[in-house]
Amino acid sequence: MNSPANVGGSRMLLRKLREIMEAGGSAQERLNRLVAMVAATMVADVCSIYLTRGAFHELFATQGLAPDAVHRTRLRSGEGLVGLVAETAQPLNIADAPHHERFSYRPETGEDPYQSFLGVPIVRSERTFGVLVVQNSVQRVYGDDEVEALQTIAMVLAEMVAANAFGDLSGLADVEVRPSRPELLRGKAFSDGIVIGTAVMHEPHAPLGRVIADDPVKEEARLDAALAQVRGALTEMLEGDPGRISGVSREVLETFVLLASDPSWEVKLKHGVRAGLSADAAVERVRGEHRAKLNASRDPYLRERLQDLEDLDNRLLRALAGVDGAAAQQMPEGAILIARELGPAELLDYGADRLRGVALEEGAGTAHAAIVARALGIPMVGALPGLLSRVEAGDTVVLDGETGEVRLRAEDQVISAYQQRASLRSARAAEFARLKDTPAISKDGQRITLLLNAGLALDVHHLDDVGAEGIGLFRTEFQFMVSETLPRLDSQTLLYRDVLEAAKDRPVTFRTLDLGGDKVLPYVKAEREENPALGWRAVRIGLDRPALLRYQLRALINAASGKRLRVMFPLVTTVAEFEAARALVNREMEWSRRFARETPAHVEVGVMVEAPALAWSIPALKGKADFLSIGTNDLMQYFYAADRNNGRVADRYDVLSAPALRFLSRIRQDADAAGLQISICGEAAGRPLEALAFTALGFHRLSMPASGVGPVKQLVLSMDVGAAQKAVTQMLEDERPSIRSGLTAFAREQRLAL
Ligand code: PEP
Ligand code: MG
Repeated sequence: MNSPANVGGSRMLLRKLREIMEAGGSAQERLNRLVAMVAATMVADVCSIYLTRGAFHELFATQGLAPDAVHRTRLRSGEGLVGLVAETAQPLNIADAPHHERFSYRPETGEDPYQSFLGVPIVRSERTFGVLVVQNSVQRVYGDDEVEALQTIAMVLAEMVAANAFGDLSGLADVEVRPSRPELLRGKAFSDGIVIGTAVMHEPHAPLGRVIADDPVKEEARLDAALAQVRGALTEMLEGDPGRISGVSREVLETFVLLASDPSWEVKLKHGVRAGLSADAAVERVRGEHRAKLNASRDPYLRERLQDLEDLDNRLLRALAGVDGAAAQQMPEGAILIARELGPAELLDYGADRLRGVALEEGAGTAHAAIVARALGIPMVGALPGLLSRVEAGDTVVLDGETGEVRLRAEDQVISAYQQRASLRSARAAEFARLKDTPAISKDGQRITLLLNAGLALDVHHLDDVGAEGIGLFRTEFQFMVSETLPRLDSQTLLYRDVLEAAKDRPVTFRTLDLGGDKVLPYVKAEREENPALGWRAVRIGLDRPALLRYQLRALINAASGKRLRVMFPLVTTVAEFEAARALVNREMEWSRRFARETPAHVEVGVMVEAPALAWSIPALKGKADFLSIGTNDLMQYFYAADRNNGRVADRYDVLSAPALRFLSRIRQDADAAGLQISICGEAAGRPLEALAFTALGFHRLSMPASGVGPVKQLVLSMDVGAAQKAVTQMLEDERPSIRSGLTAFAREQRLAL
């Protein structure tokens, strides 16, 4: 590996680099001295710096190639080995460069005799804006320590360019070190709303300050202390109360602890500081490598590991900066959070009052972070490839949660156009507010019950704001996700009581804990499963380990004493599972009676239709269940075999397709035949066009995020259910992938409010 001599060599390299920078001379002279020094120290025949100007990688300085090629040799983006390094943002180390398929011969450089090639990207904040190259005339593969040394130089160089250390260098003004032009990124709308604010990075680029350490010994001590802190915190988590959720495997956390104690991670970090980098810069460099590999990898297993590693790098950076957690960072007014991906618990951790909007590079609209964003009323756009490399903290961001567009550093006129759109939206919102006490009755007299999806006590006030008739889905797991530790019986009871009180006499349907999948608790890492969506989640956990579920049912029964209690179970797949879950309710009612507590005046026990198998068992639920609610988010992911959390497939299929709508129609008919009340509570119910289709199929109860109630009510008031039913029935006769456009045309024809 890295011998002390090589480490000493790297340190000398950095010291010399600093001397060059501190000495006088023009920027070009300093750059020339820098390449000469790197070539000499690394015993290379050539050292060159290419910087990216527009669509070209331009030779800015060289030792060894023809001097008059400087600023003349320009490789097109993606051209040659330099282009390959810039494209992949990864080092390229080859012994026989001229025979590489991407080799591009440039006679003006006089590079014929050079065989071996080592190129590393000059990258900062995930943005590659140049390539640093060494070449030798003999065929050789460069050693790991040489690759690392060159990466270290490239990193320092990147920071120097970014800090304007070569201010007057010819052509440098065109090198896009940090993006400055207005840009439009198109993604997917996850949570409605138009906002203008300031970019804040979820995992900020460390404010490095010093890149080169003044005192490497001190830096190593800082690194050691931070490593000990991160490892200590993880071990504490692992050794924390084992009974919190009995039986949930700790395998994941163990893997994490194992990664944190992996000597190769530490060696890499140490190598950075011993080479003369500050501790923060050493971590930043390793993080950069992990990120580059993550961006290049499609293998889900590898990606997960790299994400874990990046998470560890981030923890370490925070420990060095003395910051407690990502969510603890200072937020400017009007913060728009920028992240690759965000878990629902992380979003809850930030809280609605600190965020104006969220933009994600990845993510999916039916994932729980998106649901939480809608519940909190935070506009969110996701599936924005390249976002992290295009935005810098402090940039102005216009986030359009209606169209899924994000505008970075927009011009004033564009901003004022969005401000106008935002005020038009407020006018529409005022129009919805006027309707809040009007019941949703269609033109042909059909009454549609509009209910709210909620998850926090805070959400309940939306009942009055938007005029919903009750809560059709209360996601109880949110309380668990925002807590540091498992909520105790009394705090669960308190929340449920508050919700029932705030709802006054409107019905509230509590859904029991729906954990697993992407809903993980911060204090209990669930076992890593090959297919979490098909894994041990929701009621499956509840039935296998009934203590937690029984506790929750006890809290619900306590909270609803003397009142009406509606409970439903998530992801039930068979009638037997429902019966087992219902038996737990009966048992807890018994328990309550035995201890002479006042029980609820009336208990209704329902089930979510989320698994296709249960959807085909509805006649058998007759007399057993009191009501059904279709969770289209999950039902559609299982129906279409498309992971709702995977941005690449989540929106591939449309709930407004003939097979999906026929399926839903069949469920509704079976429910009616069995005399079971049925509703739809997936996110789709809150979108007017989908709501139009559902009411046409005979659904009279829809439960949705608060933002959907106004628009759906306006639609119902303007529609004729009979006419819609006829139109939809006809459209379902065709085998088209989506009836969306047909239904939109119908809505226009009928002048429906969409
Ligand atoms: C659903 O699956 O449609 C649903 C409402 O539940 P959740 O989104 O919480 O899984
Ligand atoms: Mg669900």
